Amino acid sequence: MNDAQSVIKNGAVAIKNGKIIAVDKIGKIQSSYKANRMIPGEGMVLMPGLVNGHSHSAMVLFRGLADDLALQDWLQNYIFPAEAKFVDDNFVRVGEQLACWEMIRGGTTTFVDMYFKPDVASQVVNECGLRAIIAPSSIDFPSPGFQGWDDAFAAAVDFVKRSKGKNPRIIPAIAAHAPYTVSPENLKQAIEAARQYDVPLTIHLAETKTEVEDVQKRYNATPVQHLENLGFLEPRVFAAHVVWPNESEIALMAKRGIGVIHNPDSNLKLASAFAPIPAMLKAGIKVGLGTDGAASNNVLDMWKAIRLTALIHKGTTLDPTAVPANTVLRMATVGGAEALGLADKIGAIKVGLQADLIQVELNEPHLIPIYNIISHLVYAANAQDVDTVIVDGKVLMQKRKMLTLDPERIRLEATSIADRIDAELRPNKDAQL
Ligand SMILES: [Zn+2]
Repeated sequence: MNDAQSVIKNGAVAIKNGKIIAVDKIGKIQSSYKANRMIPGEGMVLMPGLVNGHSHSAMVLFRGLADDLALQDWLQNYIFPAEAKFVDDNFVRVGEQLACWEMIRGGTTTFVDMYFKPDVASQVVNECGLRAIIAPSSIDFPSPGFQGWDDAFAAAVDFVKRSKGKNPRIIPAIAAHAPYTVSPENLKQAIEAARQYDVPLTIHLAETKTEVEDVQKRYNATPVQHLENLGFLEPRVFAAHVVWPNESEIALMAKRGIGVIHNPDSNLKLASAFAPIPAMLKAGIKVGLGTDGAASNNVLDMWKAIRLTALIHKGTTLDPTAVPANTVLRMATVGGAEALGLADKIGAIKVGLQADLIQVELNEPHLIPIYNIISHLVYAANAQDVDTVIVDGKVLMQKRKMLTLDPERIRLEATSIADRIDAELRPNKDAQL
């Protein structure tokens, strides 16, 4: 994922103080460097860790709770009430741990978490060793622990102030939920705070046709144009979904340098439609990939998002050459890093970048034989093939064993929270079965 997209056979990477200091053939690395520790890689590919540009991590505890519903019905009648009732510090701690376990297991090394209780989430991220943009979500309605925008936003700004620069792996950010759930005045506050504290700003944007019609009716502008009118669009902004931009909005987003995070699983499941990714890439927009929350996916599995992205845009454009494998793999790594404003730190195996690397094992039947490694990573590999995960030079998983989290305890705690949710939301479930 360097500029030349090189694939080095029998290669090796030297890491010092969490950074990549050399990339070359193994013989050259071994004759130039003496390592305290060597991680073998026979039969594996070493690649940059995956960048999940959009998630609501702790929502893994709602995984499979309400499927096959319309977005507004799903959000207003299931997710928002369930969040109001159950999301507290313990929920976010256990949910975040479960999410981090799933992401490390599948080779994600950086993720964006747009959710609640950012201090709890940060603590989990700090302990498990992943890299994250933690963006507490502010919305005009009541949300867990808050009456509405004012107190939620004040707490988010306070979090940003307190945590910026404290931990190099945790980047605090501002998040405004969406143009249809946040007033123009509050959207302005969000971008002003992001500028003041020099942090990223993320938002759900142009996700559904209903949103476009709603924003058009209220503000006489399409969602992207509405944000432009508010002076909201600049390179620190990255937007999730952007399924419904028109041609001039695509040109505008490219001109303003905003990042777009494509979440194909969520867009399909909630029947939001297909984001015009080929047109956005052609316009030069920085496009990354995301999973969205597990309540609308239902997994935090970037390999599924990679494969879907490579497939669906061929189908919608009737062009089998659309969004080829190397483009998708770029979106899942360095493209995501660019969209999030992190390309100077992560996303590629390049001297000077942080050592966020994964090893993918190639010995399973679905990966034999090997003609083209990029093709395998996009069309054939899955999360279970990831063997080793390294962030900042620290090993978080090796030989598929989690080294920084306790899966057994997380499974028990997550199950016990889910039992409580189930008993409250579906008291007669057992009688029905
Ligand atoms: Zn989302």
